[in-house]
Amino acid sequence: MTLFSEIGLADPLLKALEAEGYTSPTPIQEQSIPHLLEGRDMLGLAQTGTGKTASFALPILQRLDMNKQRAMPKSTRVLVLTPTRELAVQVGQSFKTYGCHYRLRHALVFGGVGMVPQIKTMAGGVDILVATPGRLLDLMNQGAIRLDSVEVLVLDEADRMLDMGFILPIRKIVACMPKSRQTVLFSATMPDSIVGLANSVLHQPVRVEITPAATTVDKIDQKVMFVDRENKRSLLTEMFACKTVERALIFTRTKHGANRVAELLEKAGIPSDAIHGNKSQGARQKALNDFKDGRIRALVATDIAARGIDVDGITHVINFELPNEPESYVHRIGRTARAGASGIALSMCDADEVSYLRQIEKTIRQAVPVDFEHAYHAPHIMSRGAGGKPKPPVRHQRAPQPLDTYPQQARGGKPHGEAAGRRDAGKPSGRPAGQQTRSGNTGFRGASSGTRAARG
Ligand code: AMP
Repeated sequence: MTLFSEIGLADPLLKALEAEGYTSPTPIQEQSIPHLLEGRDMLGLAQTGTGKTASFALPILQRLDMNKQRAMPKSTRVLVLTPTRELAVQVGQSFKTYGCHYRLRHALVFGGVGMVPQIKTMAGGVDILVATPGRLLDLMNQGAIRLDSVEVLVLDEADRMLDMGFILPIRKIVACMPKSRQTVLFSATMPDSIVGLANSVLHQPVRVEITPAATTVDKIDQKVMFVDRENKRSLLTEMFACKTVERALIFTRTKHGANRVAELLEKAGIPSDAIHGNKSQGARQKALNDFKDGRIRALVATDIAARGIDVDGITHVINFELPNEPESYVHRIGRTARAGASGIALSMCDADEVSYLRQIEKTIRQAVPVDFEHAYHAPHIMSRGAGGKPKPPVRHQRAPQPLDTYPQQARGGKPHGEAAGRRDAGKPSGRPAGQQTRSGNTGFRGASSGTRAARG
């Protein structure tokens, strides 16, 4: 096993890594850091969760320290572009953590908050600027930021930036930088648009590829739950009766859907919040902090808002709705398997989502195991997926049942097995008795270990 001390990093960085409990580089770090320390351009194919932030932050910090220079007013020596504010905050935090033994100045620039503090911070110049493209361009147009002395440019999650329509801002921003710079481009996928961008901004790059879909997906215990749409809400709240669902990230397709699901959970006594683009930066950050610190048990998110969410110990990712882009499924479920940990991903699939499920299975090159055990299993939807004839939906007529809410469980409420037993009592499962335990590992029952992110 390679150690950080063997790949050319300076002592102040080794000390910072040690304080975090990290001794060995992840594969992307091991492959990129030596090239980046040499000043090479790089094309990195990797998604969040692989340790990609440190793979560029560490060599950049070392480079800045080796060549100490004061940044010019309104300028930055390093620019990192990210698609979302959340990712910008996390990248900024990583620079702070790993650079804690250096005296370097950082700034964050993103929309949704006032411009004045950002303009003031930039007035004296900084060593590292982490920015989203839209706000950066605004401040450049106002003359508050100039990029003519940038030494290193990082385009992080470039595919997502292009999905969000940032190609023109990115091109305008790059045009304002010196040609003689080091450039690093990270992307989780390689569509033609990214190849085009890479060809125009990178100079003889090394290519480092970490195959995320297979490696990440393999560590996650995935289950699909076929369910009629009208039963999804009941199924969701019942999942939380099981206390192994400690910290759940729930995905919806729309912002309104995210709000509605968070409200539903709150009403059921499950502390929750929603995070999406309509919320102010302050509200988003508060929801994230509450989730990180365990004040809420569920965070409901849309795909874009969830980009770059880096929270350790997410025990479950729950797809309340399946994404229509298969890559989003991989991104979503990857939130529960951070840096070597395993996790559980449960996906609800109604009759309209079967085609999304099949696309996802093609992309991840495996069938997602079916959970037959839950209260609302809808065999007619499953058979639809296999080419069978769809049957009319079955609405489960069940008396409302009290939920074991989280605070009660935390104080030693009903044991998990009891909750599961009560949930199943006297309800039709929609399949022959011989198949009753076919799945044998209902995701939200079996989730008990191995879900913490590895630290050190
Ligand atoms: P990233 O892919 O940059 O979003 O990083 C994913 C997670 O891995 C973050 O929580 C990092 O703090 C953590 N991490 C980064 N490098 C290492 C390492 N070498 N060993 C263990 N965890 C790491």
